[in-house]
Amino acid sequence: MKLYPLFADLTNRPVLVVGGGAVAERKIAALLDAQARITVHALELTPQLQAWADAGRITLRDEPFDEVWLDAVWLVIAATSDDALNKRVAALAESRRIFVNVVDESALCSFHVPAVIDRAPLTIAISSGGDAPMLARLLRERLETVLDHSLGALATLAARLRKRIRLRHPDLSARRSFYEDLFTGPVAMLLRQGKSDLALEAAEQLLSSTPVRTPGSVVLVGAGPGDPGLLTLRALRALNEADVILHDRLVSAEVLDLARRDADRIKVAKQAGHHHTTQDGIHALLLKHARAGKRVVRLKGGDPFVFGRGGEELEFLREHDIPYEVVPGITAALACAAYAGIPLTHRDHAQSVRFVTAHCRASMDTLDWSALAQERQTLAVYMGVGELATLQSKLIEHGRAASTPFALVENGSRAEQRVITGTLAQLAERAVLHAVRSPALLVLGEVAALAESLAWFGQAPLGAAIKPIRKMPSSALPISDQRTRRNTLGAIHHH
Ligand code: SAH
Repeated sequence: MKLYPLFADLTNRPVLVVGGGAVAERKIAALLDAQARITVHALELTPQLQAWADAGRITLRDEPFDEVWLDAVWLVIAATSDDALNKRVAALAESRRIFVNVVDESALCSFHVPAVIDRAPLTIAISSGGDAPMLARLLRERLETVLDHSLGALATLAARLRKRIRLRHPDLSARRSFYEDLFTGPVAMLLRQGKSDLALEAAEQLLSSTPVRTPGSVVLVGAGPGDPGLLTLRALRALNEADVILHDRLVSAEVLDLARRDADRIKVAKQAGHHHTTQDGIHALLLKHARAGKRVVRLKGGDPFVFGRGGEELEFLREHDIPYEVVPGITAALACAAYAGIPLTHRDHAQSVRFVTAHCRASMDTLDWSALAQERQTLAVYMGVGELATLQSKLIEHGRAASTPFALVENGSRAEQRVITGTLAQLAERAVLHAVRSPALLVLGEVAALAESLAWFGQAPLGAAIKPIRKMPSSALPISDQRTRRNTLGAIHHH
């Protein structure tokens, strides 16, 4: 059976729904959206249907079913649990040439209700002809994720200018390329930013000016910590539309795999110590590609505004009048904590959390150590792998207890993730023992002890108490430490 798709205009047209349960309610909600005039035959109504009836939005008929009702309507939906009634409604509708849908009875239907993606006035409908409604639903969910909600506004704007566009570009291929600019360029971008007035202005400009090459744009996108499942929908869309992607070393291959196949991928690796591409070099690349009219995605590990120099890049773009957008990402602190089972705040153990960077000695000298050493707060330390010994001694010197638990999360959220735990007194030593490498994030604070009991992802945490794989004389270790750890954990469990 092959169906003929059509979109019906039901505004003010009478429609009959037989049934007053949850299924009927869903159908009626969609019919109300379409502004149909709805009569419902039911002996009992859901509370929502009752409310709509009370408000006069639907007309209720609670007397016995009467086939003459069908004479007044354009289509009918049967959604009762009474099979005989459903069948009768279907037959009566058929003989009157009225379209009928019997919910979940595709053999009785002369029309099917598709799964819908609503970006009004744009409507995308998917039907499996009633055979595989679950598959249609799955497809709907997929499409929902790729289509931005501003598409509706874009369609409205295009409709508004349609006549003038036709006059301005009578030639079909010129018109096509105009529409492509309209739908993919700055107008669409401004609508995504919620600036409808500016979008209209930009569209007018596009329409009146002799076609200039559309300016490119830059989207600063947070790629998250590595697990591609942690990308946002907006990040995914930007990757789908990119012409050029400038990405950091930290961005995982799995994330890059999700980008448009023919996008140019340029790695602008900045490695601690030796910088392969300088920040100025990155600025120059952004400018070059945007000025060439490309849609550039500047893809950064984690979030672009957390230790990512995203601010500097935006300042540069603003100075050079390149339009930009920012898509946040899941920053390493949030991801590493989540994937190690460490709540960053906890009513019993930590009332605040600080994101700190410790990438070189100079930057560490400017930190407020006594503030950092306070109890009952969590430190999330970025780029600190090389400076753990300094960090450890400074914090202890400023009063943080040597028994404060830590967790070092290496390659957080990735298949290779490792979590090393211990106490502040053992921090540098344990990092060396396990040869912790960048990227790794340090979580320090009472909450870090929770990793032992709440870990759920990848390998179990490498804790000193569980696996004393050390070659040191036993006096260096820490039976006392073990006890401290157990105490800390105990405290947590019994709170
Ligand atoms: N903008 C990024 C941080 C860039 S600084 C963000 O928001 O996450 C780079 C530091 O981030 C690394 O040295 C490391 O400390 C941390 N980092 C980033 N990704 C990480 C990961 N997957 N696992 C552990 N640490 C990570």
